[in-house]
Amino acid sequence: MIDWQALGDETIDLLRRYLAVDTTNPPGNEAAGTAFLAQVLADADIACEVAESAPGRANLVARVRGNGALPGILLHHHVDVVYADRRYWSVDPFGGVVRDGFLYGRGAIDMKSTGILQLAAVLALRRARVPLKRDLVLLATADEEAGSAFGARWVAEHRRAWLEGCEYSLSELGWIHTSPHFRAPLGTIFISEKTGLPLRLTARADPGHGSMPWPETAPHRLIGALGRLLAADRPVRVLPEIREFFARLGTVLPAERAPGFEDVERSLRDPAFRARFLADRWFAAMVRTTFAVTMLRGSEKLNVIPPEATAEIDCRLLAGDDPAEVVDWVRRVVADDQVEVSAYREPKVPNLSPPDTELYKALADSLRRRAPDAVVAPSIMTGFTDSWVFRRCGLQAYGFAPFVLDDRELDRVHGNDERISLENLREGARAYTEMLIAVAAA
Ligand SMILES: [Zn+2]
Repeated sequence: MIDWQALGDETIDLLRRYLAVDTTNPPGNEAAGTAFLAQVLADADIACEVAESAPGRANLVARVRGNGALPGILLHHHVDVVYADRRYWSVDPFGGVVRDGFLYGRGAIDMKSTGILQLAAVLALRRARVPLKRDLVLLATADEEAGSAFGARWVAEHRRAWLEGCEYSLSELGWIHTSPHFRAPLGTIFISEKTGLPLRLTARADPGHGSMPWPETAPHRLIGALGRLLAADRPVRVLPEIREFFARLGTVLPAERAPGFEDVERSLRDPAFRARFLADRWFAAMVRTTFAVTMLRGSEKLNVIPPEATAEIDCRLLAGDDPAEVVDWVRRVVADDQVEVSAYREPKVPNLSPPDTELYKALADSLRRRAPDAVVAPSIMTGFTDSWVFRRCGLQAYGFAPFVLDDRELDRVHGNDERISLENLREGARAYTEMLIAVAAA
């Protein structure tokens, strides 16, 4: 039997202490965070292994063995947090402060809280001697907020054995979102994420004096190319899972906004719906490859027409996009052989885990238990997380956090006064534990 009250108290205490460890990245100093976790595990007599990818950049794994009847589940979180500007916080972001029913601190949502739910759940199962049919593997990694080179990507390359025998991984995001604009709470489970394809457009032409311009200078050619790219109508593509997401979202949106959402793939053929739908930048990003011109470079001097002008484009791919096809398409719409189009980093091919697995169903049940009126849907992150790395290693990876959060709480993620309610921690620890019992108890 599990004493839920005691588990809630323990979860709050663990998170208070974990939030007090400053793992701001850069520099990260995740070793301080893994030292804290290692001590908690040692006190519970659970062996762990810590490996540094660079001085101070530590990753930790602990495996609680099941009977091997089914493959294991990786419970992942990242130890690092983004910086907090103390001038704009009303409390010490690394003080573990509890005020008015909330625990404050950088990482309270993103994502030390989820790491502590995973830890508390594993401790509770061990203490209650719940027999397991799957291994549960706690994995804490460095550097997620700065590209994961010292964290998940390093683990995938240098400590692949840590993931051995696992078929699933659970990591950040995915929660129940309540909003005054919604008719019901919206629970999401992240099944995929868009990946970046950094593009560079380089125009070259003869240089000259700014007093006597002509139409074909490098900057002018570049501007023309960018204009054609931004005006080009890259076709929308609605993944079946995203069609399902919008169908469920339609049942949550205000009634006047809902028409057409039951099948956005069909509705997008209607020009009026399409214009309305794509005007929402989040919706648009869910159904198409996006191109954001973010960096522009030309001359160093006002009166010098430079020999070269460049633009860098933050292009984001949707699952099913082929990076080579996207680059070809950009070349075609730019339609200028004096403008070179190149992808300047090895592209990350987007991946997706299906929402019809046993684990996905257990996650959805768990969210519905936390908020019985919630509508639960699979979703795609427009940003990026380590789940992409685990999918590449062959695992089905989901973003899941059994928290109920409103708009105002979510705005604090990477913002000021990030916090999590004590109720979310208590109920979340119970939900995480019960979910693991449902999928992993023998
Ligand atoms: Zn995060």
